[in-house]
Amino acid sequence: MDLELVAIGTELLLGFTIDTNGAEIGRALGEIGVRVVRRTAVADGEADIRDAVGAALARTGAVITTGGLGPTRDDISKRVIAGLFDAPLAFDPSVWDDVLARYARFGRTPVESNRIQAEVPRGAVVLRNRWGTAPGLWLEGAAGLVVLLPGVPGEMRNLLRQEVVPRLVERGSGRVVRSRVVRTSGIPESTLAERLGEIEDDIAPLTLAYLPGVAGVDLRLSAWNLSPAEAEDRLTASAELLRARAGEHAYGQDDEDLAALVLELLRRRGAHLAVAESCTGGLLGGRLTDVPGSSATFVGGIIAYDNAVKREILGVPGAMLAAHGAVSEPVARAMAEGAARVFGVEAALSVTGVAGPGGGSEAKPVGTVWLGVTLDGETRALASMFGGDRREIRLRATQAALDLLRRRLTPTAGPGTAL
Ligand code: AMP
Ligand code: MG
Repeated sequence: MDLELVAIGTELLLGFTIDTNGAEIGRALGEIGVRVVRRTAVADGEADIRDAVGAALARTGAVITTGGLGPTRDDISKRVIAGLFDAPLAFDPSVWDDVLARYARFGRTPVESNRIQAEVPRGAVVLRNRWGTAPGLWLEGAAGLVVLLPGVPGEMRNLLRQEVVPRLVERGSGRVVRSRVVRTSGIPESTLAERLGEIEDDIAPLTLAYLPGVAGVDLRLSAWNLSPAEAEDRLTASAELLRARAGEHAYGQDDEDLAALVLELLRRRGAHLAVAESCTGGLLGGRLTDVPGSSATFVGGIIAYDNAVKREILGVPGAMLAAHGAVSEPVARAMAEGAARVFGVEAALSVTGVAGPGGGSEAKPVGTVWLGVTLDGETRALASMFGGDRREIRLRATQAALDLLRRRLTPTAGPGTAL
């Protein structure tokens, strides 16, 4: 089954609200084999809504809308869409009872405008909303199917899961859309693509998308319109093939986190970790302590932002800083070794770089980052060059530092490439 989404709300067009509902519905419907073929966002205007929903019905015959079901003057979705079905609105006392009961629970009384929320287009099935006052509506007729859901994400989600998905499954084909992600780090998208070669035929009928981001390049495999068992088998086989071709650059699957992986690898060898951060200013420690249970392995860190901190706390020699500058191989190495010494741990990471927008030079342009890793007394360093703005450079440097340690802890993985 194919279906279109229409997100209704002027705030979506102004960019103040991101259409997370659309993303969520896409994922939930993919799971049950309903394909979202188009997503549209429109303002809270009568013509906007009528045109968008009317066109979607004409094209695809099935639509889910979100937003515009509240009691205020800008909430006109129901009236306009009912018009497309020539379905007059009628007051439904049982919906009104739900609204009254909900208000009573919060010790409030509804106002006159709330009565609008109890008006139901003739022939519509009411999807009871136990999480808010605006019920969802399932409206089916000669024009096709429109499911109207409220815009508030929590209410939308509950109605989608409990009322909409079961109804769609009932009429569905038993086919699904499923995805699996193979995560890579420390390799640029184009190099990775070269490494994978012409893989499309080998993974068919699955499709492959390259999704570059600050954490690296994710490879998303998608199975379309297959039975759940076949989708599962093919995703497993193709993910294995991708991992084999990506080699040491692949570190995980789906939403696996590099920080969690590194902590687990350290835990297995009974090692503890400390960090010394300059340009990332604590982001690396933040990533590590985001992981539940990190305290078993991660000991602490020093934000050595000023050279005085690098010198006095980490023991980086002043002469070294003067001769090579703070963003340099010897300083990255000395910072990692200093952190290992200060915290008395087997493993330490360091980051020192030029996050910009100022501070770059010809020899060390913005984005230049030196990373250091020390493990069991042996230190290595890697220079990287990251693109993007200050925020991205800092996030990429954080991920690259974690990746450097992962490679050290995975004997077959090699040192990684300078990006
Ligand atoms: P409404 O049902 O139009 O009264 O929407 C209520 C609230 O839900 C809005 O103020 C937005 O904050 C939020 N919202 C509406 N549409 C969406 C959407 N597509 N994705 C995420 N949030 C939304
Ligand atoms: Mg709205």
